Amino acid sequence: MEPSNIMMDLRKLKQAMPDIFEQVKRDVKHVLGRQRAGLSLGLVDMGISSRGFIGGMFFSGGTMILMNRRALQVLLATGETASRWNKNARQLDREEIVEAYVYHVLQHEYIHALGFLDEGTCRKITREVSRKVFPEDHPVTLMAKHGIGYFFPRHRYAPVEYQFTPDTRSIELVKGFDRSSTVYYM
Ligand SMILES: [Zn+2]
Repeated sequence: MEPSNIMMDLRKLKQAMPDIFEQVKRDVKHVLGRQRAGLSLGLVDMGISSRGFIGGMFFSGGTMILMNRRALQVLLATGETASRWNKNARQLDREEIVEAYVYHVLQHEYIHALGFLDEGTCRKITREVSRKVFPEDHPVTLMAKHGIGYFFPRHRYAPVEYQFTPDTRSIELVKGFDRSSTVYYM
């Protein structure tokens, strides 16, 4: 790792999340014609294991999307090279990949929040929306199609039946998330 290499840290990534979410909402509305305001985002440590990890979660009836902070830290810090990333197109840097990952997870959880609670249906819609909004070789499309392992071969998503109950006391709220609802309530 070059000392001059500017690594995106979690703090910077959190600041980017509200903008990424606005884009998610625009893109989903564009493709599905549906939208929802009033959601918040919390980061919580959901761990990471050889069985796989959870990128995020949304509880039906709730208003908070949760993202796995540990997974973000691991993906930001992973030492894998970019050589296999997007072979046919320009070389992507880690920052772009992790931002695409955040977009991908937020889009997936947002689609759950729109009422598509079934996991298989949600993944299918996530793939469809991604394919309509981004080029075939874009990291968001590739992640929706192949999963996180496409970019991070040592990591994969936990199986569908994997159960996890987050410690709600340790949820860190992301500031400025879902501006539409902030405006609405002002
Ligand atoms: Zn899901």
